[in-house]
Amino acid sequence: MVTSNSAWETIIGLEIHAQLSTDTKIFCACSTQTGCEPNANTCPVCLGLPGALPVLNTRAVELAARAALALGLKINERSVFARKNYFYPDLPKGYQISQYDEPFSEHGELTIMTATRDEAGHARDWQPKRIGITRLHLEEDAGKNMHEPQGSAATGDDNNYSYVDLNRAGTPLAEIVTEPDFRSSWEAYDYVNHVRRALQWVDASDADMEKGNLRCEANVSVRRKGATEFGTKVELKNLNSVRFMQRAIDYEVERHIKLIEAGGRIVQQTLLWDERTNTTRPMRSKEEAHDYRYFPEPDLQPLIVSPEFIEATRHAMPELPDARRDRFMRDYELSFNDASQLTAELALADYYERAARSSNNPRAAANWVRGDLARELETRNLNIAQSPVSAEHLAALITAIDTNRINGKQAKDVLPLMMTGGVTVDEIIKSRGLEQVSDTGEIERIIIETIAANPKQFEQYKAGKEALFGFFVGAVIKQSQGKANPKLVNEMLRAKLAE
Ligand code: ADP
Ligand code: MG
Ligand code: ZN
Repeated sequence: MVTSNSAWETIIGLEIHAQLSTDTKIFCACSTQTGCEPNANTCPVCLGLPGALPVLNTRAVELAARAALALGLKINERSVFARKNYFYPDLPKGYQISQYDEPFSEHGELTIMTATRDEAGHARDWQPKRIGITRLHLEEDAGKNMHEPQGSAATGDDNNYSYVDLNRAGTPLAEIVTEPDFRSSWEAYDYVNHVRRALQWVDASDADMEKGNLRCEANVSVRRKGATEFGTKVELKNLNSVRFMQRAIDYEVERHIKLIEAGGRIVQQTLLWDERTNTTRPMRSKEEAHDYRYFPEPDLQPLIVSPEFIEATRHAMPELPDARRDRFMRDYELSFNDASQLTAELALADYYERAARSSNNPRAAANWVRGDLARELETRNLNIAQSPVSAEHLAALITAIDTNRINGKQAKDVLPLMMTGGVTVDEIIKSRGLEQVSDTGEIERIIIETIAANPKQFEQYKAGKEALFGFFVGAVIKQSQGKANPKLVNEMLRAKLAE
């Protein structure tokens, strides 16, 4: 990678905008539903009509509190909404209601797990790292401008028009700003995944970057190792996935180093990542940056949240992902990697834990959930919550192996049959006649038959060719049509051949 072993150090700070999952907007009762007719979900408040007054949606405050607590941040009992003034067609009021010098949460810190990556991109050597959180504040989203592509005029005249859709205007956002604490693109990558998982876990946000309900901006600069001052930063936007963000950062770091080493200077500006060309291009230069002339929003009271409200919110939340991962490692003796994978989302962690408890075999449950079940779900394009095989049914399959009713190989064939839904392990074992033969009398009969049918091999075995043992095991199991319990066959065959 560009930054390792080089004389340069990378500095990154991240700004995340997460849409809070409310049904209605932050300052009016309009729906936040997406995919509606343009401007269907608007009213005088979110259209910015003169005289319309904002009313704070308490659900947005609850979800912001959940978000803050899920990230381990403190909440200020008092915060203040402020007007951030700028002109843009998707912002009809001419200002955005945000928070400024008294935000919902500030001076925080969280610990992420982060790894270096090898050439193939595989993570190794996970380590904890503390990231300073400058602030988490509440604000409203803007609308969307839509531009007709050149030559596609829909109006009959030859002009290409631009349109404004204000359905998104007023959707509640939590903006989360970090200190410039990341030293590589992979640390930034691991942080965004950490935040995304935490927000989804507590239902604060869908936090889907591809759908745009989690948007991330990366501020990137480089400096010579040992330098104390930061270099000039650029701001990267249009990052539609965590992977794109990681690539965009690496691209910029390399560009900065080359440019500075060639005697050039970095211009502070906002750049857009182009995922088709894997390059950045300027959006606007910071020289045009606005003075936002923040001032307290006169139409809203300061936001006061009581310690009781914060405690009640904390109480209503599930066990948090990192705590659950650590508990899985302790209680079920899982590796860090397995426990991390199984706590990637709440529904998966719940599913796993039910399967582990119900089968009383946490190790096997981890293997099935991460392996065969995950593959079966993937080929059917289903998520864990949609699994046709419940955790209890998967546990029954594990128990069927553990009690020697079927063997592991048979179980792998049973699972796909269960995926059609509505059939139990028991029904499949019975209807397919898979039940293993564990009846010792029956197995003994087959062993005697098999030896009698293979006198030459029997003679050679007796003469010391012990490698033929495997041949007899295979022959007996084959004779039983694969149903003889292999453990019993092994034991009994050894005894019989030794007679
Ligand atoms: P601006 O006023 O340009 O928005 P801020 O000071 O508000 O800048 O910082 C915005 C983000 O940029 C924060 O996440 C911060 O950590 C990060 N940041 C600040 N300076 C640098 C730098 N030199 N290099 C990388 N990131 C930086
Ligand atoms: Mg800023
Ligand atoms: Zn409205």
